[in-house]
Amino acid sequence: MDIICPLAVPKGRRLCCEVCEAPAERVCTACTVTYYCGVVHQRADWDSIHEKICQLLIPLRTTMPFYNSEEERQHGLQQLRQRQKHLIEFCYTVAQKYLFEGKHEAAVPAALHSLRFRMNLHGLSSVELVPAYLLLAEASLGLGQTVQAEEYLSQAQWTVLKSMECSYAIQSLLHRNLGLLHIAKENYEEARYHLANDIYFASCAFGTEDIRTSGGYFHLANIFYGLKKLDVADTLYTKVSEIWSKYLNNRYQVLSEARIQQIDLLGKRFETDTGLGKWQLSLGNRAVASPHLIHRPSPQEGEPLSLSRAHQCHLL
Ligand SMILES: [Zn+2]
Ligand SMILES: [Zn+2]
Repeated sequence: MDIICPLAVPKGRRLCCEVCEAPAERVCTACTVTYYCGVVHQRADWDSIHEKICQLLIPLRTTMPFYNSEEERQHGLQQLRQRQKHLIEFCYTVAQKYLFEGKHEAAVPAALHSLRFRMNLHGLSSVELVPAYLLLAEASLGLGQTVQAEEYLSQAQWTVLKSMECSYAIQSLLHRNLGLLHIAKENYEEARYHLANDIYFASCAFGTEDIRTSGGYFHLANIFYGLKKLDVADTLYTKVSEIWSKYLNNRYQVLSEARIQQIDLLGKRFETDTGLGKWQLSLGNRAVASPHLIHRPSPQEGEPLSLSRAHQCHLL
């Protein structure tokens, strides 16, 4: 039985849906600490993230046990914080994985969890919330919900503006997402401004020749391609492919050396592992293959850089 009985809820306590924060009518029977407005949100949350974290939520959402000493209490609090941090990272990684796979709808509940745990742990105005806002914005853009994406990005921008300690890496990601939002809105002037900022901050954080900087070049190249400035686009695509081929060559060399060492030391065959995650490989392939874009027929007169096209390149 997973329908909430109103008489069993303490007076004055308001139970909210995990996904939309509307008044709840159902409860997860496995953990009994998670509530939903209806079957649709319960199923969406279960498929996205709840199945993986259901039991982990119990110690976070039940009252702390009675401790005999201050030392034990502090230890209990510390453990609670560790659990929250673990869940923040776990939900973030799961949401990111869905985004890389193009499953934007499934990414939303996981990203929302990451955001809420961050709010609980760091407060409402912490810069730690920004990565979760950016994930939610990316998922919204993928679903074609530009207004929603704009809201998340405004929150992220406001948080960054208020914070004095925001890292270059986060500022770079923020500008990249703002750039993509403006591409989706066909406001290329503004998109170029944000992507230039993205490249600047990514260069400060990682250097001009890093794969994390290449994403900015790539999206900028797409804009110039859409505007039929093919020579500028060509230069930028070439830059992206150079960065990636250099990176992949270096990785290959390191792995070749590791393989030789492993055979020497352990006397067994090295597994065919590239050392790159699936998503890094897919990004690499995309980037190295990107110059072929320039050999396609140039865009038709008035053809906008569509949302889907912008999003295809979103992962970089
Ligand atoms: Zn709901
Ligand atoms: Zn549960």
